[in-house]
Amino acid sequence: MTENQDGPLPVVAIVGRPNVGKSTLVNRILGRRAAVVQDVPGVTRDRISYEALWNGKRFTVMDTGGWDPKATGIGASITRQAQFAMETADVIVLVVDSQVGATDTDLAAARVLRRSDRPVILVANKVDDERSEANVAELWSLGLGEPQPVSALHGRSSGDLLDLVLDAMPEAPREQEQEEGPRRVALVGRPNVGKSSLLNRLAKDERSVVDSVAGTTVDPVDSIVTLGGEEWRFVDTAGLRRKVNTASGMEYYASLRTEGAIQSAEVAVVLLAADEVISEQDQRVISQVVDAGRALVIAFNKWDTLDEDRHDQLEREVERDLARIKWATRVNISATTGRGVGKLADHLRWALASWEKRVPTAELNQFVRALVQETPPPARGGRAPKIKYVTQADIRPPRFVVFSTGFLEAGYRRFLERKLREQWGFSGTPIEVSVKVRE
Ligand code: GDP
Ligand code: GDP
Repeated sequence: MTENQDGPLPVVAIVGRPNVGKSTLVNRILGRRAAVVQDVPGVTRDRISYEALWNGKRFTVMDTGGWDPKATGIGASITRQAQFAMETADVIVLVVDSQVGATDTDLAAARVLRRSDRPVILVANKVDDERSEANVAELWSLGLGEPQPVSALHGRSSGDLLDLVLDAMPEAPREQEQEEGPRRVALVGRPNVGKSSLLNRLAKDERSVVDSVAGTTVDPVDSIVTLGGEEWRFVDTAGLRRKVNTASGMEYYASLRTEGAIQSAEVAVVLLAADEVISEQDQRVISQVVDAGRALVIAFNKWDTLDEDRHDQLEREVERDLARIKWATRVNISATTGRGVGKLADHLRWALASWEKRVPTAELNQFVRALVQETPPPARGGRAPKIKYVTQADIRPPRFVVFSTGFLEAGYRRFLERKLREQWGFSGTPIEVSVKVRE
């Protein structure tokens, strides 16, 4: 069954020097003999794109083409290929001939691709039988993580490779990542924490513009607010400006509105009242943001009301009740006096930067390999799973896929998440670590 895939398809670029088997691999992926133009000496073969289908998912395979004889040598040509792939593809496959081993040209390509912020998969091609697998280990030296042994010609392990490629693929192709206009913020929290007061404060201090979409909307939904020298789109603020009574039954609609705002936003400010105990209802709003995978800023409002006792008590509550979102950035504000409100923009920017952060594949694998060596996953039933490869499959929020020979327990996955956070921060964003088991 084919998933519903509207819009541009994700792109997989196949990179490598001539004769490593790129075209053969492309044909293998397409599952038929595609009309690949014969290489004619002196004629540059263009980059050719094909539409492919695997496990119900459609994507584009881009053969980055042959050697451009006009380039000053093959090294320059392959470096250009790699750079082009990094700019245009969602996943990059570097093909190396395992019978030849890593050549200087392969090393040059790998050096470029190590800086890629897109997932890079290293293919050791021409592993036609078990015996040839001995050649593969040497290719670790390319610094791109574990080489995937494949025989493009005979199809050996090509299904595994495609699984790996699909798992590394982002949920949305890269074109959709860059969007126009101000960043979208949801201002959420249970009733009476001060959402409308804060919005009024932002409007007053920052000369907010009420945005009527194309002049046709009578009831503008969003507010454009200038904060910290930048415009922000506070989404779904109509309900905040026009106070709705909180009679019974309204809570249900309030929570629907909260969900809607979170879905439309990139980052959510969850407002909590510093003068009250953190409640179930507060926790629910926080969970909505985390579950939706949005960046998160926690703002303690009504800070003007705090005395020393309440302050100490609050810090203890935060320790105890917000332990699961230790990574969220936190700011203390007062909508009434304006205290701390100016800092909000910085927190939004930090959270969004983490939300969109991408760790290069090589760096990621190097880190995880060292980590696993020091603290291997615990054995289950006498057999310890081996972690083979890690890739960051997505951003907004960051999503990591760990390929392992066996099931990794929740405790170990949390350990990996904690270490990834220690290494790269990700403050202000949820991250996801999932495991794919491959023998
Ligand atoms: P490209 O220049 O990188 O596109 O390489 P081609 O796909 O044209 O392959 C170059 C040569 O390697 C051809 O003769 C292929 O038949 C051969 N080849 C490709 N894949 C394999 C493989 O898995 N095993 C073996 N033994 N030969 C292969
Ligand atoms: P909403 O339901 O979240 O939109 O909350 P409101 O903005 O209506 O605020 C609820 C109550 O808290 C109102 O009486 C506000 O005046 C009060 N309030 C809001 N922010 C602050 C603040 O920073 N300090 C103090 N002392 N009171 C506040």
